[in-house]
Amino acid sequence: MPLVLDNITVSYRSVPAVHHVYARFEEGSSWAIFGPNGAGKSTLLKAMMRLLPIDTGSVQWQGVERRDLAYLPQLAEIDRTLPMSVFELTALGLWHEMGSFGGLRPQQRQRVHQALERVGMDAQAQRPIAALSSGQFQRVLFARMLVQEARFLLLDEPFNAMDAHTTHALLHVLRDCVAAGKGVIAVVHDREQARTQFDNTLLLAREVVASGPSMQVLTQANLHQADGFRQEVRADEWCDVQPDQLQPPQHLHHHHHD
Ligand code: ADP
Ligand code: MG
Repeated sequence: MPLVLDNITVSYRSVPAVHHVYARFEEGSSWAIFGPNGAGKSTLLKAMMRLLPIDTGSVQWQGVERRDLAYLPQLAEIDRTLPMSVFELTALGLWHEMGSFGGLRPQQRQRVHQALERVGMDAQAQRPIAALSSGQFQRVLFARMLVQEARFLLLDEPFNAMDAHTTHALLHVLRDCVAAGKGVIAVVHDREQARTQFDNTLLLAREVVASGPSMQVLTQANLHQADGFRQEVRADEWCDVQPDQLQPPQHLHHHHHD
């Protein structure tokens, strides 16, 4: 029951951020999404979650429903000021089981506590989330994903700005998830992490540079090709016209009167 990206293109104001991408993610496998800044990694995850409209192709959830996908955005995109406790935030992972947000059954409360235990936060279940460090907050967000019991976990730079201890603990949680048959797809910023912690890597630079076993994908040649994306001139970024309608800048300055 895979997640399939079949030739997807995603654009912001007509500028493609992800261009004709094919990918197939299976349960029980781990994938790092790796590439330079602005390569379209976050856009790819959001498109996979169907949070963004796509221009071409299709995002196929083959035998997979919304509740089977857990998504963790970049920490910077998450509001931490909500007046909730650690327990309450974690319990939101049960959203697909709740009619209205009423009481939790004892068995559900137990699942919330078990998830918090797995990330080392159960002792702090009653603390307000606003009082947590970013590492503690990330652990709670992991617990929320675990409580959902999704089949695929999609995470956007989950270890960014995390201390080594938290990173180590959360990588361990992800490995357990893969061993338990879940599909894990994570945008990672650290090449060694991609190489050593994820079986597969999708190297993205708006287009797929390479994809497959991490050892084979993260070669100097492939990384060099992906880095070339940085130098690319993005003259098309400032307006709404299609790239093929753009004129070279000198046309603005040369007035020919033939
Ligand atoms: P990455 O996560 O790999 O750093 P993103 O997917 O965030 O890349 O962004 C890919 C490209 O799309 C970048 O050029 C970025 O500036 C642009 N972009 C991302 N989000 C938006 C948005 N909401 N509106 C306009 N452009 C965006
Ligand atoms: Mg990003």
